[in-house]
Amino acid sequence: MSELPDVSRSAMQRAAMADSADLSRRLSFLGLQEKDLDRLRAQLPVFETLAQQFVEAFYDYLLSFPETARFLNDPQLVQRLKQAQQEHFRSMFAAQWDDEYVRQRRRVGQAHADRGVQPQFFLGAYNQFLHFYLGRICPEGRTIAADDVDRVRSLLKAVFLDIGLTLDAYFLQMTRDLQQALDLLWKLNNELRQFAHFTSHDLKTPLGTVANLCEEVLDEFGDDIPPAARQMIASAQRTVYRMSTTIDELLSVSLREPRDEAVETIVDTEAVLHEALERVRPLLTKRNIQFVQLGPLPHVHAQRAQLREVFYNLLANAAKYIDKEPGRIEVSATCNGTECLLCVADNGPGIPPSEQQRIFAPFRRLAKHHHVAGSGLGLYFTKSLVEQQGGRIWVESQVDVGSRFYVALRAAPQAPAAKND
Ligand code: ADP
Repeated sequence: MSELPDVSRSAMQRAAMADSADLSRRLSFLGLQEKDLDRLRAQLPVFETLAQQFVEAFYDYLLSFPETARFLNDPQLVQRLKQAQQEHFRSMFAAQWDDEYVRQRRRVGQAHADRGVQPQFFLGAYNQFLHFYLGRICPEGRTIAADDVDRVRSLLKAVFLDIGLTLDAYFLQMTRDLQQALDLLWKLNNELRQFAHFTSHDLKTPLGTVANLCEEVLDEFGDDIPPAARQMIASAQRTVYRMSTTIDELLSVSLREPRDEAVETIVDTEAVLHEALERVRPLLTKRNIQFVQLGPLPHVHAQRAQLREVFYNLLANAAKYIDKEPGRIEVSATCNGTECLLCVADNGPGIPPSEQQRIFAPFRRLAKHHHVAGSGLGLYFTKSLVEQQGGRIWVESQVDVGSRFYVALRAAPQAPAAKND
C-alpha cells in the first residue's frame, strides 16, 4: 500500500499529521476516499434523528443477555454509556480521521478489555447498529437506489476502520496481560525450582546421617545385636537409601530445563544402547545375566540423552527383577517405513495382565517386589521421556516366562547419527 489512491486530501493530511503512516495505510487499504467522507457526513443529520432511539433499543438488547447485563447494573453508568455510544457513532459519521479519532477508538478497545468484555460483544454492537440503521434508511419494500448502495458501502468501510482500530487496542491489552501472566509464571516456576533444590538438600542431609548411623551401629555393635534387630537396622538403612533415590528422581524431573526437551536429532539407537549398557554391566555380571543384541539397531528421531535414560531404566529393571539362573536380556528392533519398535525382553518373573498398564503410574510396584530396592518411579519417568519424544511405550508379559517392553519411535533415514551431546 505505498500509493494512496483518490483519498480525501484533507483527511489524508490530517492522517499524515497524526500517528500515522499506520492510519494512512488503513484508510488506503479500506479504500476510504473523499467521496466516502462526503457520503458519511451527509448521513450525519439522518443519524442524529435516530441516535436516541438506537441507543435505547441497543441497551434493551444488551440487558436481555446475562453476559452483557452483568456489566450494566448501575443505571448512572448505563446513562453515561448511552451518551458515549451516541457520541461514538456520531464521530464515525463525522469522519474526522485524525490522531484523536485513533486515540478515541483505542480508548474504547482498552476500556472493553479492562472490564473483561469479550470482543464478540463489541462486534455485536456494530452488528446491532448496522441492523438498526440500515433498517431505517432502507426500509423493507422500498426499492434500493444506487445512491443507497453507495451510502451503505461508505458506511461499511467506516465501520471496518473502527473495528480494526478498536480491536488492535483490545488485543494489545490482552497481549500485555498474557505477557504479565507468563512473567509471573516464569518467576513462580523459578522460585519453585529453588524451593525443590533447597528442600531436597534439607531432606537428604538428615537421611544421609541416618544411613551412616545405621552403618556405624552395624559395624561397631553388629556382633552384640540380636540377628532380628540387625535385619531391622539393615532394612531401615535400605529404606533410607530408597528414599534418597526417590528424592533424586523427583528432582531430576522438577529441575529439568524446558530447553532440555527441545533438542531432537537422528539417533543411532545401537550406540545409545551400549552407553546405557555400560552402566548396567556390573549388575549383569553380579547376577549372571546374559545380554544379547538380536540384529542391528536402527536410527530414530529422538533426544539422545533421554533415549539413553529409557534404555538404562528398562535394562536396569530387567537386571533387577530377573529371578532365574541364568538370566537373559535380549534387545531387538523392527522398523516399518515410519516407525521403529525397540524391544527390551527378559526372562524374569513377568507382570500379570492387570498390572501391565498400572506399572507406568507413579509409585506403582508389584507387591512381590516390595523387598527389592526401588521407588516405583522408574517406568513413570521412562514413559514421560518416551512421550516427550513423540513415542509410545507398553509391555507384553507372561507371568513366570518374562516381559517384553516395547518403545515405538519415529524412524529416521539409516544414516550416521548426529552427535550433539
Ligand atoms: P522400581 O523399579 O523403582 O520399583 P519402576 O517404575 O521402574 O519402579 O517399576 C515399577 C514396578 O514394575 C516394579 O516395582 C516392578 O514391580 C515392576 N517391573 C518393572 N520392570 C519389570 C520387569 N522387567 N519384570 C518384572 N517386573 C517389573
